Amino acid sequence: TTQSRQPLVAGNWKMNGNLTLAESLADGIEQAELQVTEVVVCPPFPYLAALSKRTLTLGAQDVSACESGAYTGDVSAAMLNEMGCRYVIVGHSERRDGHQESNALVGEKAAQALSQGLTPIVCVGESEQTRQAGLVESHIAEQLKAIVDSIGGEAIAKIVIAYEPIWAIGTGQTATPEQAQAVHRFIRGYLAEVDPAAAAKIRILYGGSVKGSNAAELFAQPDVDGGLIGGASLKVDEFLTICQAAN
Ligand code: PGA
Repeated sequence: TTQSRQPLVAGNWKMNGNLTLAESLADGIEQAELQVTEVVVCPPFPYLAALSKRTLTLGAQDVSACESGAYTGDVSAAMLNEMGCRYVIVGHSERRDGHQESNALVGEKAAQALSQGLTPIVCVGESEQTRQAGLVESHIAEQLKAIVDSIGGEAIAKIVIAYEPIWAIGTGQTATPEQAQAVHRFIRGYLAEVDPAAAAKIRILYGGSVKGSNAAELFAQPDVDGGLIGGASLKVDEFLTICQAAN
C-alpha cells in the first residue's frame, strides 16, 4: 500500500463456526493493539446482534439490493446498519457462482449499501479458465463497469474493492505478489479513467489464500491496500499476524 491509504484487513468468516467461536475471535481481535490497520470482521448474519455491542468493526457477508418487503431470506442494508455494521461484502464469487448473482445485481447491492451509509467491499476476480484464456483484464473491466454504472463515478472513493481470483480462494494457491499487483494496478487504472482523485483514494484488497506467511509480501505491493481473509480469519493468532503485516 502507499501511505496515503489506510490499510484494511477484513475477515470473512463465511458459514463457519458457532457463537462461541464468534465471541472468542472477537475477544482476541479486541485485545490486540493494531495502531494503523483498520480491522473488520464479517460474521454470519445470526451473530451480528451478539457482536454489535462490541468495539470491533463489523461487516456483513451480503445484503439485499432491495430496500424492504417480501424478500424471504434476505437482509436489508438498513437492518445491517441497525446491527452496527459499517461494511458489507458484496459480489463474493461464492454468491456470484453459487447464487447466480449477475454483475448488474452486484452493482445494485453496492448502491443499496451506500444508500444506508454502509461501505461495500465489492469483490471481483476471474476463474482459472478466464486467466488461461488471457481474459483477466476484460473480465475485471466488465465487473467494474457494472459497479461504476450503478453507484456513479462520484461514489468510487466510498467503496472498497476486493480482488479475489477464484482459483486462489480456499485453495492454498495464493496469487503471487506480482500477479496481485498487476491486477490491482489495472483496477486502479480503470477507475482513474472515471475519477483520478477517487482512484488514488480507493482501497483495493487482495483475497485468496492469504496467510500469516504470505501477507507481508502481498501487502507490500504499491496497489495492494490490505486483504479479505477467509480461512485464516478463523484462527485468531494467524488473523492478527495478517493484520500486523498490513500495519
Ligand atoms: P480464503 O478466502 O482466504 O479462504 O482463500 C478468501 C475469501 O473468499 O474471501
